[in-house]
Amino acid sequence: MEGELQLAQGFRPALRSGSKEPRRLKPALHYTGMNLMTPEDFRAAAHQTVDWIADYLRDVRDYPVLAQVKPGDVTAKLPASAPEQGEPIDAILRDFRELIVPGITHWNHPRFFAYFSISGSGPGILGEMLAAALNVNHMIWKSSPAATELEQLTLGWLRQWLGLPSEFFGIIHDTASTSTMHAVLAARCAIDEGARLTGEFSRLVLYTSEHANLSVDRAALAVGVGLHNIRHIPMDHQFRMRPEALKSAIQADRRAGNVPFCVVPTLGTTSTASLDPVPAIAAVAKESGLWLHVDAAYAGPAAVLEEYRHILDGSALADSLVLNPHKWLFTPTDISVLYTRRPEVFRRALSLEETPAYLKSTTVDDAVNLSDYSVALGRRFRSLKLWFVLRSYGREGIARLLRSQIRMAREFAEWVNEDPRFELSAPVDFSLVCFRKVGSDDENRALLDRLNASGYAFLSNTTLNGKFVLRLAIGNIGTSEEDVRGTWEKIVEAIAN
Ligand code: PLP
Repeated sequence: MEGELQLAQGFRPALRSGSKEPRRLKPALHYTGMNLMTPEDFRAAAHQTVDWIADYLRDVRDYPVLAQVKPGDVTAKLPASAPEQGEPIDAILRDFRELIVPGITHWNHPRFFAYFSISGSGPGILGEMLAAALNVNHMIWKSSPAATELEQLTLGWLRQWLGLPSEFFGIIHDTASTSTMHAVLAARCAIDEGARLTGEFSRLVLYTSEHANLSVDRAALAVGVGLHNIRHIPMDHQFRMRPEALKSAIQADRRAGNVPFCVVPTLGTTSTASLDPVPAIAAVAKESGLWLHVDAAYAGPAAVLEEYRHILDGSALADSLVLNPHKWLFTPTDISVLYTRRPEVFRRALSLEETPAYLKSTTVDDAVNLSDYSVALGRRFRSLKLWFVLRSYGREGIARLLRSQIRMAREFAEWVNEDPRFELSAPVDFSLVCFRKVGSDDENRALLDRLNASGYAFLSNTTLNGKFVLRLAIGNIGTSEEDVRGTWEKIVEAIAN
């Protein structure tokens, strides 16, 4: 039939009753005369794209980890204005390969050891591809029931693996920064219900540690807690928040007429992966009536391991907790999980006087509408990739991966320890090693620059006890012992030359 399209095998619409032929659909935009992508064009381009992805994942070690470009190099190769006429997909894919990829720093590279690597995986990429294809927005249950329910289901599975209480309600956000912002917003609502209506609230004070991630400060800023009202509680010699210092700070604030409202300890701090003592902090929070939000963005997934379950001790008492499957659970970015025992506070913090008319008729009362718990109305179907990952590896597979990465980090730490030219700068509890060459900051900076410029591996740095320190964080699913050993050899070579 002219002007009509046959849908691809596997995506056929239901048969009309009594008919042997699947219904043929009219492509709505076919008549515009534009160069639109037909299903067959799509299939051909998608096959090419998937082939490229599979080759890329297989050959990723052949790329320099760190992009070998200067600021502006990528822009200089691309037209300053968008095209007037549409271009063929082949040309776009070619430019992607030739102009964009050379400017990429490869987070997928097994020797990407900087920051906390965001480690994807084959199953996670498949879930992401399908989510892009479905392109649903489960702002309310009816707008995509399966996406709403799969989000609840996968977060329930994960909660069981982590040993968190069954009353914890989970919701997915893009990043830990957004999850924490919501937690601080809920904390503000819990202490001062009226602020939601008037926008005026008392001098609220938030407590976190000296080593908290900047996302905690940003969250506080976003909900109107001024920078001067964020207290960075000092650490002990192992970079852990000191609960007695927290207690004193709260008392001092009360005496000054301020209103302490929230405390954010970290499990797996960004610089060293240290663990703040959550049980003691939870006791202070309870006694002082503070909202307890635990930032377990990086280290949280380690609690899947029996021998690491203890890291979540005290977290069952938390009002909320965040962890990032895109950091250390082999799920492509972006996916952050926020758990809370008080979902009704989040809902209240974000509730309007009335549901807008354009949503009302499609809202089903006894179903969860996830946008009730978030600033964003629209939601990507992020749980699909997590579901693929959890099912594909199972708890045992995930545990094996985490253990092997922790073991590789410990081995690296032993090499550092055994070599008198180097020193460890912090305890190694997870898959992060902080170390430095014995010597000046300048020497260590030069060592890092030389290593990263080689394109072989990419490490980052931090400052500990006033000294420049290198960080090697293992999290990529493809990292092998040879990668870690090879990186150590390059480091040793770099100081010899
Ligand atoms: N919390 C910790 C402990 C982190 O290390 C990071 C980032 O590295 C974050 C929060 C912020 O994560 P996101 O980039 O998902 O906002």
